Amino acid sequence: MFMSQLPTGEQKLNLSRSHALYQEAQQLMPGGVNSPVRAFRGVGGDPVFLERAEGPYLYDVDGNRYLDFVQSWGPMILGFGFPDVLDAVMDASKRGFTFGAPTQAESELARLVIDSVPSVEMIRFVNSGTEATMSALRVARAYTGRSKIVKFSGCYHGHADMLLVQAGSGVATLGLPDSPGVPRETTVNTLTVPYNDIEAIKQVFSTYPDEIAAVIVEPIAANMGLVLPVPGFLEGLREVTASYGSLLIFDEVMTGFRVALGGMQERVGITPDLTCFGKIIGGGLPVGAYGGRREIMQVVAPLGPMYQAGTLSGNPLAMAAGVATLKELRKPGQYERLEHKSQLLGDGITRVLHDTGADAQFVRLGAMFCLYFTREPIHNYADVKQADTARFASYFWSMLERGYYLPPSQYESCFLSLAQEDAQLEETVKAVESILRQQA
Ligand SMILES: *Cc1c(COP(=O)(O)O)cnc(C)c1O
Repeated sequence: MFMSQLPTGEQKLNLSRSHALYQEAQQLMPGGVNSPVRAFRGVGGDPVFLERAEGPYLYDVDGNRYLDFVQSWGPMILGFGFPDVLDAVMDASKRGFTFGAPTQAESELARLVIDSVPSVEMIRFVNSGTEATMSALRVARAYTGRSKIVKFSGCYHGHADMLLVQAGSGVATLGLPDSPGVPRETTVNTLTVPYNDIEAIKQVFSTYPDEIAAVIVEPIAANMGLVLPVPGFLEGLREVTASYGSLLIFDEVMTGFRVALGGMQERVGITPDLTCFGKIIGGGLPVGAYGGRREIMQVVAPLGPMYQAGTLSGNPLAMAAGVATLKELRKPGQYERLEHKSQLLGDGITRVLHDTGADAQFVRLGAMFCLYFTREPIHNYADVKQADTARFASYFWSMLERGYYLPPSQYESCFLSLAQEDAQLEETVKAVESILRQQA
């Protein structure tokens, strides 16, 4: 549908095998993919099929190499093929893929998370971020005996029915305000308010003072680009939820172990009641987790009455990858290194924006960043929708042609990794500069 808008540059890349594989895949899977954003609908054109990756680089089936800013949507913060992670997974593989019985590795990963994130006293591992948020809300409802939940428009918490309301990210890219197949009855208890709007939260609580089990929030909204919380917003949520006996859930599936060892809650010094994890804690294998205060987590079966289970939950391969990844991240200086890289890239691109006068803005926090094609201030989903997605698409394809793999949507955050070297980031700034000069 965007075909006519594709920059001519795309033709310079040979993507012929990718195109052929995509033709086949579309016959076999809806849209040729197993997760919608991978189909490149947000930028037009066909997706790139990848073959392998090493350190900071991806290699596609046509032999093109890209510096990777997607990192499998977050998990690969150490880069690809990190030796300790590989060894740990290979070793675990030889001992058995999965037993459906307890293993020591589960306690090891639990301890690493608990030691890194003080608000988490007990944790339960699941297989995806979707399961983590779904289960955390079940805990909140079981613990409080209340039914309603509050989420923010543009925040994505996975694809559970009750959460597919103004959900950002893939849903935003597809332009679906909601999804067919989700019965109204399933979302009647889901209240949605604008991000960064503490007055709206107060209003919701004064309307339903005894009915709200929890407020779930991305402490940095990273499924509508990268929207930072305004000062006082997260603090306000903490105050309001506590005063109404409602739980505060931080969905740190993306931000956990990414913006700090202790996630965004460490950076802002706020203690949520429950936290959701995923992505990095599985080191690239499928994992999610939810955890929080012991007293709350005690409602989870078999200790308590709230049921939640999983055949492959806590599986040895994912635990091994997670343990090796977190051990590496817990070494001194890692987040300072990431911050240095982020600042290097941020300073460079900010200077480029200034020099070129481009109608765009750069947002970053820790090892996450986003280039929005609008200069209007961005505080919520409505603001994000002002960004020029056609110009983003043109920028995306020009970057790809130069060997930079970005998320194929204006509504996704980019990621930095410890595998990226300063020189590579300096080159990235130059590539951005040449593209913005051409666009101008
Ligand atoms: C990715 C993500 C999820 C969903 O995780 P899946 O593993 O894709 O199910 C939930 N919440 C946030 C904030 C995410 O970024």
